[in-house]
Amino acid sequence: MLTTDRTMHEIAIVENTFRIILEVARQQEISKINRVNFLIGEMHGIVPGIFHHAFESAAAETIAEEADLNLEIVPIKMKCNHCGHTFFIQNSEYQCHQCKSIDLELIGGKELTIKSIEGE
Ligand SMILES: [Zn+2]
Repeated sequence: MLTTDRTMHEIAIVENTFRIILEVARQQEISKINRVNFLIGEMHGIVPGIFHHAFESAAAETIAEEADLNLEIVPIKMKCNHCGHTFFIQNSEYQCHQCKSIDLELIGGKELTIKSIEGE
């Protein structure tokens, strides 16, 4: 498999969150992780396939080895600073749907959270 900058992005996120996953599992006295639920904002530009692959690599020979990965992608949401309209970004059109202003504030889609861990 080719290692590209894109792949590195997913690997870095998985590595950073994996330590947290194991720590949370330890606190909850989970000895086998069955499922990890992620909440990831679209802003991060995650490619689910690569993310799954990176997760499997990180999980090998840990208590998360057989865990399922669930990715919930949060769409990019903007608030117009001009008219107050809130809307989701589609087709990378960063312009207010109502007044066409480009003075926008990001209010959703930056999430990078472990929503929950299920195990036994
Ligand atoms: Zn507007």
